[in-house]
Amino acid sequence: MNYSVSMPYNDYGTWLRQRFPYKVQKISVDAGFTCPNRDGRLGTGGCIYCNNDSFNPSYCQREKSVKQQLVEGKEFFRRKYPEMRYMAYFQAFTNTYSTLDHLKSLYEEALDVEDVVGLVIGTRPDCIDDTLLDYLTQLARQTMVTLEYGIETANDDTLRLIRRGHDFQCVRDAVERTKGRGIVIGGHVILGLPGEDAEESVRQATIMSELGLDVLKIHQMQIIRGTRLAQMYAENPFHLYSPEEYSELIVRYLEHLSEDMVVERFASQSPKEMLIAPKWGLKNYELTNLIVNKMKREGRRQGSLFVSNSLAMSRSL
Ligand code: SF4
Repeated sequence: MNYSVSMPYNDYGTWLRQRFPYKVQKISVDAGFTCPNRDGRLGTGGCIYCNNDSFNPSYCQREKSVKQQLVEGKEFFRRKYPEMRYMAYFQAFTNTYSTLDHLKSLYEEALDVEDVVGLVIGTRPDCIDDTLLDYLTQLARQTMVTLEYGIETANDDTLRLIRRGHDFQCVRDAVERTKGRGIVIGGHVILGLPGEDAEESVRQATIMSELGLDVLKIHQMQIIRGTRLAQMYAENPFHLYSPEEYSELIVRYLEHLSEDMVVERFASQSPKEMLIAPKWGLKNYELTNLIVNKMKREGRRQGSLFVSNSLAMSRSL
């Protein structure tokens, strides 16, 4: 077992504390990117669930410089935790979708801000190349660099339905090219996408375990105003999980996930005014408490039911 005995899963907070001798907080930065699924290279409508306004905190505004956003973000947290250090989280849109020179200038501007001790770069698996990876490999020798890939699902039918503009093989290739470089490899998935039931999600846990990710972020399906999914949902509503159903699904997912995988979060909380459904009225930490308490009460742990696909195959031979 690689994680704290007091936690029934391999939580990101503990993992981070093992790497830094101080508290570290991410600060979201909107560096003015777009994405190929919006600017016409792959499409213009974006993924059917996406409205980037739903994940930008108020201090994070693209007309401000990266430095200014970080300085204001630091002020926001510093009142409570004066000793805190920060990771610049390039979150909105596709944060590797530009020329290498432009990317370098943005990332280095962030790292020049006092107390910034790392970068987290959110991107699509089809928006990296070896030149960029070589640069990030060098950077990762000096500071923590996380590449966070939007994966969303391992199912190609669903990827087509949500109009991601890439398939799951693209994810496999990106992760494969990123491995062994000292870059932390993150992945982001959504549970409850249209057409995917709980069994499909549980199957996904094994696939994610074997992909080569270091850190996984899991989000519940949310219907956000102004998205194509909102229109589809209005015309043809589909099942969205209740907090109880979702907690049970997360526990099953964790049981089938390798115990080596660090899990960063289980849910996201979109601004009230943008959220159509599900309206759980729970803060992220409240949902996490629900899940952790349930696991402790029921004696369930991450990895307890994980069987690697290759082992399962060799057993059946
Ligand atoms: S989710 Fe990401 S890739 Fe999809 S449209 Fe939004 S910014 Fe682009």
